Amino acid sequence: MTFALVADLVLYGLVLFAGLAAGSYLNVLVTRLPLRILAADGISADELGCARMDPSSVRSLCPCCGVSLRWYDNVPLVSYILLKGKCRSCQAAISIRYPLAEVMVAFAALFAVALFGMTWHALGASLFFWLLIAVAIIDFETGLIPDLLSFGGLMLGLTYAAFTGAGTEAVWGAVLGYGSLWALATAYRVSSGQDGMGQGDLKLAAMLGAWLGPMGLWLCLTIAFVTGTLFALVFVLRRSEGLQMAVPFGPFLCLGAATAFLVQESGVDWITAWTNFVLGY
Ligand SMILES: [Zn+2]
Repeated sequence: MTFALVADLVLYGLVLFAGLAAGSYLNVLVTRLPLRILAADGISADELGCARMDPSSVRSLCPCCGVSLRWYDNVPLVSYILLKGKCRSCQAAISIRYPLAEVMVAFAALFAVALFGMTWHALGASLFFWLLIAVAIIDFETGLIPDLLSFGGLMLGLTYAAFTGAGTEAVWGAVLGYGSLWALATAYRVSSGQDGMGQGDLKLAAMLGAWLGPMGLWLCLTIAFVTGTLFALVFVLRRSEGLQMAVPFGPFLCLGAATAFLVQESGVDWITAWTNFVLGY
């Protein structure tokens, strides 16, 4: 083994550990943030089912019995496997979301470092992916997209763009993101008489536009609408409740955004590639 290879292995090992730790923190945020929003609306955690916990507490608790987790039951990924997915004190099943989020957060960081090396660029990309993971999980679980993440993410995106020299595109992306979803939501409300999209989706689109710029946003929205529509169709076909049930759109926007970010950073001219594919070249 050469020295360079050993150095790389050590580096990726450190990024993996840091990523798992960040994933553990993200899990706490993803659990507590919606509880705080609901508490502000006068809805208690108990109404969310097995979710009895103090949203202001900084310690990790079992969401079911409220017992504080010991450090050895709070090791990312490892504890979930050793505990076989059950709380040590109350035996309640721990959501598979906890280890999944930890793995996704860690892989996002590894991916960013593999793509950009140990640079500010990699840190920015990691933050963007972590925001996407947090928003997707919270919207999927509760139907909420916290302003802290959409507005905070918007500010981070504009700052990141200012550093990478894409400030103008970022501002346009944010305006177009909010504007295009607002137009769609308004058209839907006028034609069907009901709300198809929430305010949270519009703010999220503004945040994504800031990170992706207008062209990346366009790719992101295309992917989100195609995958979201396919999912809704499968969902409707499997159930008979019709189109009335709400399918959260945030996770699809996040999926589209992650794909668009990677496609843009890969340097492939996807507009030309896509146009050629459509035209049959
Ligand atoms: Zn418990």
